[in-house]
Amino acid sequence: GTVRTLNFPGYFFLTPPLYFIPDLLPPGVCSLLNPAAIYANNEISLGDVEIYGFDYDYTLAQYSNLLHSMIFNTARDILIEQFKYPEGLRKYEYIPGFAIRGLHYDVHKSLLMKIDAFHYVQLGTAYQGLKPVPDEEVIEMYGGTQHIPLYQMSDFYGKGPSIKQFMDIFSLPEMTLLSSVTDYFMTHNIEYDQVHLYKDISDAIKDVHVKGMMYKWIEKDMEKYILHGDETYAVLNRLVNHNKKLFLITNSPFSFVDKGMKHMVGKNWRDLFDMVIVQADKPNFFTDRRKPFRKMDEKGSLHWDKISKLEKGKIYKQGNLFDFLRLTGWRGSKVLYFGDHLYSDLADLMLRHGWRTGAIVPELETEIRIINTEQYMHSLTWQQALTGLLERMQMYQDAESRQVLLEWMKERQEIRSLSKNLFNPQFGSIFRTFHNPTYFSRRLIRFSDIYMASISCLLNYDVNFTFYPRRTPLQHEAPLWMDQLCTGCMKTPFLEEMVHIR
Ligand SMILES: [Mg+2]
Repeated sequence: GTVRTLNFPGYFFLTPPLYFIPDLLPPGVCSLLNPAAIYANNEISLGDVEIYGFDYDYTLAQYSNLLHSMIFNTARDILIEQFKYPEGLRKYEYIPGFAIRGLHYDVHKSLLMKIDAFHYVQLGTAYQGLKPVPDEEVIEMYGGTQHIPLYQMSDFYGKGPSIKQFMDIFSLPEMTLLSSVTDYFMTHNIEYDQVHLYKDISDAIKDVHVKGMMYKWIEKDMEKYILHGDETYAVLNRLVNHNKKLFLITNSPFSFVDKGMKHMVGKNWRDLFDMVIVQADKPNFFTDRRKPFRKMDEKGSLHWDKISKLEKGKIYKQGNLFDFLRLTGWRGSKVLYFGDHLYSDLADLMLRHGWRTGAIVPELETEIRIINTEQYMHSLTWQQALTGLLERMQMYQDAESRQVLLEWMKERQEIRSLSKNLFNPQFGSIFRTFHNPTYFSRRLIRFSDIYMASISCLLNYDVNFTFYPRRTPLQHEAPLWMDQLCTGCMKTPFLEEMVHIR
């Protein structure tokens, strides 16, 4: 009958105008996810875990974003004063929310971009300086494709000669500085060597860490920089009260960790830990047998004696995981280690040593709040409805139908960009490139058994809780909706009771 003169059977019924979209949403799907939940990639029972290990920075200690502008400003000034970069750079300030974690950077092209699990650039997310590069130009730069040959250009830890991946949280100011300086050179038509630029900026940022400036800022004003210390205290205390053993492996120096832990946990914090290892040089700690452990006293003096046992109450420097396993016997799945760096903290443990791993991903909190909004739910639902229409109607190729298909495609593209921009106007979500998982996401799934916004999420679960990942259907499998809704994130325990936590 009146199918708007189109040949599509069912078109009229299948394309609801926008105001019908709320009806497409099952009741109660907004605000369904809890930002303080723990998400499982792999089934794991906390009852089997006897030993808990922790990284320090951004795992036990969460820092406020204030640190990013301090790092940015200091590294910018190092560039100007020590590396003799133009004085005009001084007008650049840190731009919060410009970059996201997990981006790749092509050193020779000065291109900062988001790459998906299949090594394709997400179009619209390639930036030179502070400006987006048009899709056609990006495709031309890589020889007519948006596929980036990462294996030729980048090593396992994202540190290859020409393409780097920015994985730690401290790299947010680094990416922003890189983009700001590139912007300055481009807008002033100044010729520069892209390789020098990358090296200088990464050295300037390194200086902020290595020369201890960052440690000093934090030590001077813990209240301002360290967040949620009481929750860290609660997590550690609870684990010890349930007879779990705790250890710490950090790359940071003892005096810095000691001050932070005293601030968060109290002056007797070391009583909670069976083992404290500082300046561990991860990821080499996990792969290289050469560096032996050294005993260190509280003042930082090193002892020369050979380490034949690791003792509670002592502090150790360097070392390696092979000696650690031999001296403690803490092997396999009774150990759960938490860290925020997928490569430096978790990859080798998962691939070589068989410890269970927990990834700390602070971005989850804001991303889940966005996923929970009606606006996001609506645009995602509409986007999927359009995708379904396109799939079913693609064989109608008469002129008029083609026109409609084109309009749908355009609309789908608009909604996709809109949903992307809800997370970050430049790069979108750290987990998705449109429909695909990001490169970051795939690594997260591969290297972590569970992931969460902060270790305080542990407080929401019983110490013997078993995490069951949702059985997400593979492409050839039927979606079983009951299963989708009944396990994993949807079955967040104590949903109402958790409101007070943050
Ligand atoms: Mg860390």
